[in-house]
Amino acid sequence: MPMDNAAAAAVQNNGISEYRNFVNGRFTAASTSLIEVTNPATGELLGRVPESSDAEVDAAVKAARAAQGAWEKRPAIERAGYLRKISAKVREHRTDLADIIVREQGKVRGLAQIEVDFTAEYIDYMAEWARRLEGEILTSDRPNETMLLLRKPMGVVAGILPWNFPFFLIARKLAPALVTGNTIVIKPSEETPINAFAFAQLAAETDLPAGVFNLLGGRGKTTGEALASHPEVDLITFTGSVETGSRIMQVAGKNLTRVNLELGGKAPAIVLADADLDLAAKAIFDSRVINAGQVCNCAERVYVERPAHDALVEKLTALFKSTRYGDPSREEDLHMGPLINQAGLDKVTAAVETAKRQGAKVVLGGKKADKGEGFHYEPTILTGARADMDIMRKETFGPVLPIQAVDSLDEAIALANDSDYGLTSSVYTNDLNAALKACRELKFGETYVNRENFEAMQGFHAGRRKSGIGGADGKHGLYEFTETQVVYIQGKP
Ligand code: NAD
Repeated sequence: MPMDNAAAAAVQNNGISEYRNFVNGRFTAASTSLIEVTNPATGELLGRVPESSDAEVDAAVKAARAAQGAWEKRPAIERAGYLRKISAKVREHRTDLADIIVREQGKVRGLAQIEVDFTAEYIDYMAEWARRLEGEILTSDRPNETMLLLRKPMGVVAGILPWNFPFFLIARKLAPALVTGNTIVIKPSEETPINAFAFAQLAAETDLPAGVFNLLGGRGKTTGEALASHPEVDLITFTGSVETGSRIMQVAGKNLTRVNLELGGKAPAIVLADADLDLAAKAIFDSRVINAGQVCNCAERVYVERPAHDALVEKLTALFKSTRYGDPSREEDLHMGPLINQAGLDKVTAAVETAKRQGAKVVLGGKKADKGEGFHYEPTILTGARADMDIMRKETFGPVLPIQAVDSLDEAIALANDSDYGLTSSVYTNDLNAALKACRELKFGETYVNRENFEAMQGFHAGRRKSGIGGADGKHGLYEFTETQVVYIQGKP
């Protein structure tokens, strides 16, 4: 890459790529403070990204503000055209992008590739809304009056991202924001920023107007908080932990900035005695080892009717035992890689230790994996779980599955609903009435019946209780990026 060229995302420093912010259509001068990014499987240094200052945040927000008026004035179909150019670039570089995700997030190659391909599809899906964005015609109380409800862009959007699906989350924020006429400033997680700089490189190679999309590297407490508390941001769309979501709401409160929060989960999986236990075990296994258990919507606790308990545990144990895990940057065909960092490993280790102390029985795993370097944790099954145990209440975010025996569907539903979280839930049964009852009574944003937890782009991914405010995807997710204006036009008879 050419040195210090405003069209290149990175400059080389002793063989290490140092990335630069993308603001107002250019990669900026190198930042004074940098963050090192490493491979969680090996500790290898992958690159450095800016730790953006308040002044850099301010410049990015101002660039987004300056670009917004002209962007909004373009017909939506033109805005969609720019999105399609970006998705085409993503497809063109699909394997390189997956490779970055494998190395910086520790995701297995197959899933990293799915993430990249899904991202391109998601951008196209949101672009398709260009001709479908609709307002309403309202009925007036007055003679000769026309009343219209218009949907308008919010203005400047700030997107703050987590590390677990880092590339897809760029699209989940950017695509609906841009097609509805907003401009955006994105801050990726400090754990996984390089894929976002690669995305910026691709966007920079299109003719996307300057300032429409801006990217800032940085940590949460500094750059993230400066962005969330900036008075010229009109909407903060955040995906991450409950603690950070709560802090973002607090700082956004100062300016009464609207927030859209996609937070953590503690998804219950309810397995009834009549269920197809092979199907249930496989779906729960898939839902628990994917991304080493670091997925907001995946099965975090199981409630199984007593007659099916032993058989389900046996099937789950066999599947968990078969888990192939290791370093995805060196090994192919793995189920899972390492946890994201030492803090993640410590959190999962402590959660299992606490569960043991509180009386859970380790059927499989239960400790850090002996895999050399990297933050690997053994696939773990715990039985004898109870509602008062932390492992059934707090998000674990690791390959650990606690199982509780229950006497009825009513008991399972009551236990499932008794949670701070309300993102996703699942039920396994062949009894239609039981499935319908679960769907009626489970208080969650999503319920999966006889299948693994994985949302579709045309759905609406939204958490109840502490799992979030608002949601993403589909028509309802799109409209989160708009606000309304009611127009009263008084005509003459
Ligand atoms: P996190 O909250 O630690 O960090 C997320 C982002 O917030 C990062 O970019 C971080 O730099 C930033 N941040 C941290 N403190 C901040 C502050 N004070 N002000 C502004 N920004 C700040 O979350 P994480 O560890 O990256 O992600 C894991 C969490 O995300 C889990 O709880 C998971 O359930 C959740 N998640 C939810 C969804 C969903 O759709 N509901 C999807 C993926 C992940």
